[in-house]
Amino acid sequence: MANGIGERSAHGEASKAGGDAVIDLRDIAFTWPAQAGPGLRLDRLRLGAGEQVFVCGPSGSGKSTLLSMLAGVLLPQQGTVRVLGTVLGALSASQRDRFRADHIGLVFQQFNLLPYLSVVDNVLLPCRFSPARRKRAAAQGETPEAAAYALLRQLDLSPALWQRPVTQLSVGQQQRVAAARALIGCPQVVLADEPTSALDAPRQRAFMALLQRECGIAGASLVFVSHDERLSAGFAQRVSLAAIDTMDVIHALEPA
Ligand code: ADP
Ligand code: MG
Repeated sequence: MANGIGERSAHGEASKAGGDAVIDLRDIAFTWPAQAGPGLRLDRLRLGAGEQVFVCGPSGSGKSTLLSMLAGVLLPQQGTVRVLGTVLGALSASQRDRFRADHIGLVFQQFNLLPYLSVVDNVLLPCRFSPARRKRAAAQGETPEAAAYALLRQLDLSPALWQRPVTQLSVGQQQRVAAARALIGCPQVVLADEPTSALDAPRQRAFMALLQRECGIAGASLVFVSHDERLSAGFAQRVSLAAIDTMDVIHALEPA
């Protein structure tokens, strides 16, 4: 499988004009209405199938804003966001919702699990919103439920927990439920927004390794954002967002 090291032309023109990129983002500018400064700017971010990128930047540098653009929740005022060859700005809001449900797995900072649902029903949520994901999950495991169980097992969550409300789980266990939910039905893209910030250092590293491994198995492209540069060690491709008011964007692609 290709990795980020091959993508050293991040500043230049893509050899295939982004043709086979899973994520291809160009000349982006985004400013929130109340923002005085120039807002978030990013000249280029390109990720192939199965590639993983670590996006680093201090709090307020626009990491969550960037992920919202990749997910089609926000549209930039300038530039193009292309995911799986589709220009998100060319879709209606409801088409973008459908696209997100079909193709993108999300892991949030606060996990966003539904407290009144069991572990397995939380994992199955994306299949409720997306027939395409339900179908892919069924192809994976005969039924979506079987696919959810397989993922939970892979993520080391004991069957004794599967029917429990998620509120009865530890933070570390909830995080793995969130990862299983992001991965069910093989989304081509996984976006992770500082999902380790509630954990101590050893558990942070363990979760990172788990998420990277699971995305690798699923062939999903991973965009992981964090303010904590120490977590970037396992990533071949890294991008730094500077503090938003400096307008500086540094691309740093280094071997792990
Ligand atoms: P990060 O995730 O790196 O901490 P964010 O993307 O959350 O950064 O925020 C970047 C900037 O955009 C900050 O200055 C923040 O105050 C502003 N911002 C974020 N969300 C909103 C919003 N919903 N409305 C207005 N401004 C926002
Ligand atoms: Mg954020």
